[in-house]
Amino acid sequence: MNGAEVTRRLLAAADAIEAAQEDLGAADRAIGDGDHGAGMARAFAAVRKALAEKQPATPAEAFKTTGMAILSSAGGASGAVFGSYFMGLAKGAGSGDLTAETFGAALKEGASAVSARGGAKPGQKTMLDAAFPAAETCAGAETLFDALSRSAIAAEQGAQATIGMIATTGKAKTLGERSIGHIDPGAKSLAIILRAFRA
Ligand code: ADP
Ligand code: MG
Repeated sequence: MNGAEVTRRLLAAADAIEAAQEDLGAADRAIGDGDHGAGMARAFAAVRKALAEKQPATPAEAFKTTGMAILSSAGGASGAVFGSYFMGLAKGAGSGDLTAETFGAALKEGASAVSARGGAKPGQKTMLDAAFPAAETCAGAETLFDALSRSAIAAEQGAQATIGMIATTGKAKTLGERSIGHIDPGAKSLAIILRAFRA
């Protein structure tokens, strides 16, 4: 998959995030401060603009353009988190077209970059509970489409699994056990992004 096709799919992810803005805001109102939907929508509006200006030649360039646009536009934890994630995807994607192997490597690098930057691990009710399973499931994929499919499913399952978790990092941490029963907004966003990226 080349840079133009990756760009097209990132624009589909931008559409999906903008369409989900209200839901993401509601999810963050339940266990945070309610700004996640607006922050992600603002970030992906900047992504749309940056991709149109840059017209990335390679998948890595498309991911990097996305990461930089998010880092420079979104406030809050998620600006740093999703910005770092896409910068990690760029690093892991290598220099050529995307394959099942390089897509898996990219997702792994993205999750690791977020963990290194924010210090969180899986199980703490963050987007990492979607990001790590999405990366790990690519190991069994035979084709790129299979990897895209698997990652979307694993991210959705990972996001759903955050409903049962107690938040031990970020704003939701102060709720302790009261965070149980609510999905993590960032994990929900990543599931939406990877589902749109597959389509
Ligand atoms: P803020 O918490 O500053 O209000 P957002 O509401 O936009 O920012 O984003 C919250 C989301 O960011 C959480 O749902 C979680 O998934 C993610 N997040 C916060 N801190 C971390 C972290 N240290 N590592 C990974 N993800 C994190
Ligand atoms: Mg918030």
